[in-house]
Amino acid sequence: MISFNVPPYVGEEDKYIHEAILNKKICGDGPFTKKCNKWLKEKTGTAKALLTTSCTHATELAALLADIKPGDEVIMPSYTFVSTADAFVLRGAKAIFVDIRPDTMNIDETLIESAVTDRTKAIVPVHYAGVSCEMDTIMDIAKRHNLLVIEDAAQGITSTYKGRQLGTIGDFGCYSFHETKNISMGEGGAILVNNPSDIERAEIIREKGTDRSKFFRGQVDKYTWVEAGSSYLPSELNAAHLYAQLENIDKIQADRMKSWNLYYELLKDLAKEGKIDIPFIPEECEHNAHMFYIKAKDLDERTALSDYLAENDINAVFHYIPLHSSPAGKRLGEFHGEDRFTTKESERLLRLPLYYGLKSDEISYITQKIKKFYN
Ligand SMILES: *Cc1c(COP(=O)(O)O)cnc(C)c1O
Repeated sequence: MISFNVPPYVGEEDKYIHEAILNKKICGDGPFTKKCNKWLKEKTGTAKALLTTSCTHATELAALLADIKPGDEVIMPSYTFVSTADAFVLRGAKAIFVDIRPDTMNIDETLIESAVTDRTKAIVPVHYAGVSCEMDTIMDIAKRHNLLVIEDAAQGITSTYKGRQLGTIGDFGCYSFHETKNISMGEGGAILVNNPSDIERAEIIREKGTDRSKFFRGQVDKYTWVEAGSSYLPSELNAAHLYAQLENIDKIQADRMKSWNLYYELLKDLAKEGKIDIPFIPEECEHNAHMFYIKAKDLDERTALSDYLAENDINAVFHYIPLHSSPAGKRLGEFHGEDRFTTKESERLLRLPLYYGLKSDEISYITQKIKKFYN
C-alpha cells in the first residue's frame, strides 16, 4: 500500500530529544523552543514567532489577542479545517462563510467586501495547499473597514506571496506542525505576531495570563497574573523534534517539490485533454509542495477513482466537508451569498500521496493507474 502520508523524519530528531532529556530541560520555553522561535522569526521576518501546542491553539491565541467577543462576525471560507472556525466561535463569534475560487480553492477575495457588516471584526484567509490567497485585495478591504486579518497558514510554511512569507502579511499568522504537514513536531504549531505592539500580550496570554516572560528576561522581579490566558506552550521534547526538521527544511522541501513537479509533468496531458484538473499556482505565489490534488468530473467519478486507486494499493484521500453543511457550522455560522463552488469543487477534489521520501517510481505507478482509469 502506498500511504497517503508518512510523517517526516530526517535523522537528528532522536538526538535532540535525548539532549533535552539529559539536560533536564523538558518543559516549555527551553533552549529548543527558543531556537525554533528564533529560526521562524529570522526566516519569515515577523516581529515575534512563538511555538504553540497546535495551529488550532495558535488561532485561539490570535482570537484572544483580537478581543473577539460574542456577537462579532468573522469572515472565512467554508472549505477549510474545523480549527479555522473553532477558534472564533469559542469566543462567541459567528463564522461568516464566503465562497471559494475554483482555481486555487482559496476564499474568493472579490466576495469578501459584501459580507462585511458593522459586526465584522476579522477576516481569516486560509492558504489552501500552501498557495496564497489574494492578499493585497484582502489587506485593502481590511484596512478600509478597520478589520484584523488572521492568516490560517497551517499549510503555508516557506510559501510566499509577492516575495513575502505567508503568515507575515496580516496581523497574525498561524502555522501547523502536525504530522501531516511539511515539517512536524507531532502536535504543534506557531503564532507569528506581526505588530510589535501585540508581542507583550501574546506572551502573557500564551503563559496562563502571567508576565512570566518578562520575569525570565529580568524585566520584573516577580511574575503575576495580569489577564485571562491559557497554556499554549509545547514541551521541549516536541520542540527538539521540530528543530531537527527546521535545520533540514531545505532538504525536505526540495524532496517534496521534486515529487510535486513529477506529478505535474506526468498528469498535465490528462489535464490538457480535459479529463481532470490539476493545481493552479498564481504568478505572484511561490508554493511549498504541501499538497498535490486532482479534480475529477464530479462526486461519482471521484468515488470510483478513489476506489480504483485503493484496489491498486494507493491511498488517495479527500477532506473538508464544507463547514456550512456540518451540524456545528449550521448552528454557529452562516454562508454569505451563493455556494457556487464550495460544495461542488470540494466533491471533485482528491489528494494524492505526497510526503518526504516518496519515490519517483511510486509516483509513476500512481499516475499510470490514474491514466488507466481515464482511458
Ligand atoms: C492542519 C490544519 C489546521 C490545524 O492544525 P493543528 O496543528 O492540527 O491544530 C488548521 N487549519 C488548516 C487549514 C489546516 O490544514
